[in-house]
Amino acid sequence: MIQLKKVFKSYTSDKQSTNVLKDISLTINEGEFVAVMGASGSGKSTLLNIMGLLDNFEEGELLLEEQECRRLSETERAELRNKKMGFVFQSFHLIPNKTVIKNIELALYYLKVKKKERRDRALKILEQLGLGDKTDQFPNNLSGGQKQRVAIGRAIVTQPSIIFADEPTGALDSKTSLEIMELLKEIHHQGKTIFMITHDINIAAYADRVIHIKDGQLFTEADTITN
Ligand code: ADP
Ligand code: MG
Repeated sequence: MIQLKKVFKSYTSDKQSTNVLKDISLTINEGEFVAVMGASGSGKSTLLNIMGLLDNFEEGELLLEEQECRRLSETERAELRNKKMGFVFQSFHLIPNKTVIKNIELALYYLKVKKKERRDRALKILEQLGLGDKTDQFPNNLSGGQKQRVAIGRAIVTQPSIIFADEPTGALDSKTSLEIMELLKEIHHQGKTIFMITHDINIAAYADRVIHIKDGQLFTEADTITN
């Protein structure tokens, strides 16, 4: 599904360059649920943003379903993101001045789905997520858990190949976090590939495979035990 080969990434400010990802190689197979755990500042979001074509990197390769992505134009990257990826973020990233249903329909608008079908598909997803009575509300009138459900609805309505979730429960209380994780687990069981980032071991436990990141390098459980 997605393959990173010897990826290096640094950020340069006026004085110095910081290496954030150092020689990262990683394969995510179709149907897997992979979690990456690490401390704040360890490079988790940078890794997710690179895999989700939201950020660039200097060295290495990124293959998405065998297609090399590093040299694509911004337009080509946006097209791949809209078609093949869904995103869920800690702070939801919903559009505040659009209703719940419009937030979801927008994802389909970018795929040039016709108006009637956009509405039907968005309604169906909202009903599945238990938000059938919230369609015409604005995001600010929803609880955190409801906002994240809407964001998940937006991520799945396009039937993407992979869902990227960056600390999806980071802004939620523990009970709501578990409800959101149950929902992601259900989506995974329906066959979706998920790549999730978290710093919480209880959240990572929902994944099939947990990878650790420290100082821009990846470690598996086996490495952790032998080291
Ligand atoms: P995490 O998600 O694990 O908390 P990030 O990937 O956001 O970590 O950040 C990794 C490191 O890169 C941090 O030291 C952070 O300060 C730095 N960093 C992230 N984004 C930028 C940026 N746009 N410009 C400069 N430095 C950045
Ligand atoms: Mg982060």
